[in-house]
Amino acid sequence: MLSARRDAIVLAILIVAVMLLIWNGSAFFHNLPLGEEQGPGIRLASTALTLNVALILFGWRRYVDLQHEAEMRAEHERRAVVLATTDAITGLFNRKGFADRAGQLCTDAAQRGENLVVISFQIHRFKVINDQHGYETGDRLLKTLSVALSDELGPDAIIARLSGDEFAVALALRPDEMERVDELADAVLRTVTRPLLFEDKIIQVGSFAGIASGPAAETRIPDILRRADIAMDHARNGRVARPVWFDAGMERALVAHSEIEQGIRFGLDHDLFVPYFEPQVALDTGEIVGFEVLARWIHPLSGEIGPDVFIPVAEEIGLIGRLSEQVIGQALREAATWDPKIKISVNISPMQLADGWLAQRIIKLLADTGFPANRLVIEVTESSLFADIELARTIVTSLKNQGIRLALDDFGTGFSSLSHLRSLPFDIIKIDRSFVTNINTKRESSAIVRAVQTMAASLPVPVCVEGIENEDSYKTVVRLGCEIGQGWYFGKPMPAEQARELLKDRVRTADQPLRNAASR
Ligand code: C2E
Ligand code: MG
Ligand code: MG
Repeated sequence: MLSARRDAIVLAILIVAVMLLIWNGSAFFHNLPLGEEQGPGIRLASTALTLNVALILFGWRRYVDLQHEAEMRAEHERRAVVLATTDAITGLFNRKGFADRAGQLCTDAAQRGENLVVISFQIHRFKVINDQHGYETGDRLLKTLSVALSDELGPDAIIARLSGDEFAVALALRPDEMERVDELADAVLRTVTRPLLFEDKIIQVGSFAGIASGPAAETRIPDILRRADIAMDHARNGRVARPVWFDAGMERALVAHSEIEQGIRFGLDHDLFVPYFEPQVALDTGEIVGFEVLARWIHPLSGEIGPDVFIPVAEEIGLIGRLSEQVIGQALREAATWDPKIKISVNISPMQLADGWLAQRIIKLLADTGFPANRLVIEVTESSLFADIELARTIVTSLKNQGIRLALDDFGTGFSSLSHLRSLPFDIIKIDRSFVTNINTKRESSAIVRAVQTMAASLPVPVCVEGIENEDSYKTVVRLGCEIGQGWYFGKPMPAEQARELLKDRVRTADQPLRNAASR
C-alpha cells in the first residue's frame, strides 16, 4: 500500500519534470531568432532533450519492474518458509516449524517467567489404518484429528506433526497454571482416540502420550521434546493409556540401555559372551547328570554380568539369536569332550523360536562342534509357544527328529496349562525356582510342586526342579518324588574349566552336597 503511494508520487514528479522540460524546450526554440546556420545545433538540442525524456521514462519503467521483482521474490520466500515449516497434509507445523515457533514461544515465556510444557503423542498402529483403509482415509484421519486438536487447544498452543504418526504440542503456562497440564494432556488423548465416522466406517485409533515441562528460561526445545518423547515411549512400552510425565530415571535407563546395546555389539565381536554351567543332579543318587548352559557377559570394566541385564536388550535389538548361538557353540565344543552321559541343556528365547531357520542352525552347531544330538536338551518357556505354535511345532519336530530333547522351562509361571504341555512333545518339565525357594514356608508352593509332579508322572515326563538352595528344600522335593534338581545347593553356574574339574572330582567329593542324596 505504502509502496504504491510512493510509486504514484514518483510517477507524478517525473511527469511534471518531463512536461516542464518539453514546455521550456519549445519556448526556447520559439523565442530564438534563428538563422540558417543555427538550425542543426537546435535540432541536436532537441534530440538530446527527447533522449533525456526517453531515458527518464526507461528509468522509471525499470524502477517499476525491479520493484515488482523484489515483491515477487519476497512472496516466494514467504511461501518457501511456509512450505518448509508446515506439514502438507494437516497444515500443522512440521518438525522445523515446531522448533522455530516453540523456540519463539519459549523465548517469550522466559521473559514472562513462565514454564514451557511439551506434550508428545503418537497415533498407535497408524500404519494399520493406512494398510487396511488406504492412504486417502489415513490422510483424512490426520486432517480431522488436526482440526479437532486445534479447536480443543486453542490458538495459544503450537501443534505439530513431527513425522508420520508423531505429534507434539507446546504451551507456555504460568507456574500457577501448571495443574492444567494433566487436564490438557488428557484432552489431547481424548481428542485423538475418539471414534470418527467416515461415510460407512467408524475409525478409532489408540494413542500414547508423554509430558515434559520446565521453566522456559532454562529450557531448550530439542531437550524438552526429547524428554516428552522418552515419556511417550515409556507409556507405549508399558501400555499406559494415560499421559505419562517424564522423570530423570527414564533418561538414565535409556542411557544405560544404549550402553548395554553398544556393549552387546562390541561383546559379540570380541567373544565376551561365554557359557557358564550349572550342575543338574539326579535327586535319588546325587550324581551329576547334566549342566544347564547360562550365558554370562564378561565385561572388560564391570566383570561378570548376568543374562537378566543383557538378554532383554539383545532380544529387543534382534541379536539374541546370534548371542545364544555364540554361547551354545562354545558350550557344545567344550562339553563334547566330557563324560558322554552328561546332558547339556540350552535356553532358547521366544524370539529365537519365531525364526524358521532355528532348527537348521542348531543342527549345524552340532555338526561343527561334534556334540551328539542325543546329549542336547533345548529349554523353551511357555511364552515361546504363543506367538506361532505351528512354526514352533515345525522347529521342534525337526530338532526331535535329530534326537534332541525338549524341556518346558519355568513351568508354573505365566499361563501354565495342560494344553501347553500337550501342544508339544516335551521330554522334561522344569518347575520354576519361585516355587522351590519357599517350598517349606509356603503351603501353596509345595502343593503346586506336588500337583505338577503328579501330573508329569501321569504323562509320564520327568520333572526337574530349579532353585534348590538348601538341604531342607532339597529333602522336600525328593519326598515329593521329583527326579532331577538344580540350584545353589548343588553348585552355582560356573565357568567351563570349573565344571570340568567338578566332573573329574565328583567321585572323590563324598561330603559335598552333590553326593548328599547318597546319605539321605
Ligand atoms: P532359567 O533358564 O530359568 O535359568 C535359571 C536361572 O536361575 C539362572 O539365572 C540361574 O543362575 C538361576 N538359579 C539357579 N539356581 C538358583 C538358586 O538356587 N537360587 C536362585 N536364586 N537362582 C538360581 P540366570 O543365569 O540369571 O539366567 C536367567 C535366565 O536367562 C535363564 O532362566 C534363561 O531364561 C535366560 N538365559 C540364560 N542364558 C541364556 C542364553 O544363552 N540364551 C537365552 N536365550 N536365554 C538365556
Ligand atoms: Mg532354563
Ligand atoms: Mg528356568
